[in-house]
Amino acid sequence: MPIVEDLNTEVARLHPDAFLSIEEHKRQGLYFWLQAADAVTADGHVTVEGYGDMIMLGSYSYLGLNQHPLINAAAKEAIDRYGTGTHGSRLLAGTLEIHDRLERAIAEFKHTEAAVTFTTGYVANLSVISSLMGKGDAVICDKSNHASVIDGCLFSRAEFLRYLHNDMHSLENRLREASHCPQKLVAVDAVFSMEGDIVNLPEVSALCKKYGAYLMVDEAHSIGVLGKNGTGIEEHFGLPDDTIDVKMGTLSKAIPSSGGYIAGSGNLCTFIKHAARGFVYSGAPSAASAAAAIAAIGLIRQESWRLRNLRENTLFLKSKLFGAGFDLGVTQTPILPVMCRDTQKAAHLARHCQKNGIYIHAIYHPTVPKGKARLRAAVLACHSIGDLDYCARTIIQGAKDLGIL
Ligand code: PMP
Repeated sequence: MPIVEDLNTEVARLHPDAFLSIEEHKRQGLYFWLQAADAVTADGHVTVEGYGDMIMLGSYSYLGLNQHPLINAAAKEAIDRYGTGTHGSRLLAGTLEIHDRLERAIAEFKHTEAAVTFTTGYVANLSVISSLMGKGDAVICDKSNHASVIDGCLFSRAEFLRYLHNDMHSLENRLREASHCPQKLVAVDAVFSMEGDIVNLPEVSALCKKYGAYLMVDEAHSIGVLGKNGTGIEEHFGLPDDTIDVKMGTLSKAIPSSGGYIAGSGNLCTFIKHAARGFVYSGAPSAASAAAAIAAIGLIRQESWRLRNLRENTLFLKSKLFGAGFDLGVTQTPILPVMCRDTQKAAHLARHCQKNGIYIHAIYHPTVPKGKARLRAAVLACHSIGDLDYCARTIIQGAKDLGIL
């Protein structure tokens, strides 16, 4: 029996048959979701029960800052000073001085007047888009945007328009269609998480100006990764600091903590602090996660060699896979979609890698379109060339055995 592609959709609907497909994955030895790591090291390895030591090739911790001694020490110190919990929501008793300090650090890093933080990036997108936009307005999204951006748009009850991925013609058509709406927001990912390509920010921002739309950019995969100093998408394109009205990002990827942020004007951040439901009605982020994020932002500047390593490592793995004949799509970043097209083959290639000590997942429909199944590899600054070489050889051998190459 073939494995079922739309596992996620079925689970979401809680259809009784959903468990059949999960069981089928398990029966075929292809189930590798929710796989717990019980130890994580600074060199990009994890220990997993039943597998032992594995090279982590599915992580978002691009700069390899997780397990950095200074970040760990900052989090421990914050626990000693503030405790593990907070006194409730930020607006009432939950704000700690360390939250204010984190927001100042983010604002400084993103060159904005102010910033506001949330417990996750998902919550930031959901509650900020829905607090800024409402009935009668229009929200316009790239078709490949992250689910949290889409959910924020749907939650806002504004007219929801989508344009073809990175297609400026299609975006302009949508902006024209929305010309009757009093407020228009174009919301877009800076780096697309499944393809690894980069938004055409110069043209998107020019179109926003032409049609009087606000621009929001999700920098989950670009903060710490793009630009000469890792400050993100504006630095990558050499665009002015005020190109983006609402700068969103996460503290859970290159910055090894948890949380999400919005950086922008003082007015915008003050409004969000009083209106965004995920800020007003949810407990404050922990002091430990705020301290870890502050320390990490400092280290992005101080340890600039990490970004250089990330780029060299990416080039290394990319050229090995590309040289072997793999289609890596349109990636421009450390996210490498290793195309297998066929779902069964992608699932079995992932299994081959896992059995050989590589922690990686296959991605298939509905997360990516049908016929575009792939392995999603993510390169880290802390991977050794030896580990990446081993990963390349293992993936290539598996792909040859399965008839992918
Ligand atoms: N935006 C993008 C593009 C993401 O990839 C993610 C997480 N995968 C998020 C937002 C949500 O961020 P968080 O993990 O902090 O909730």
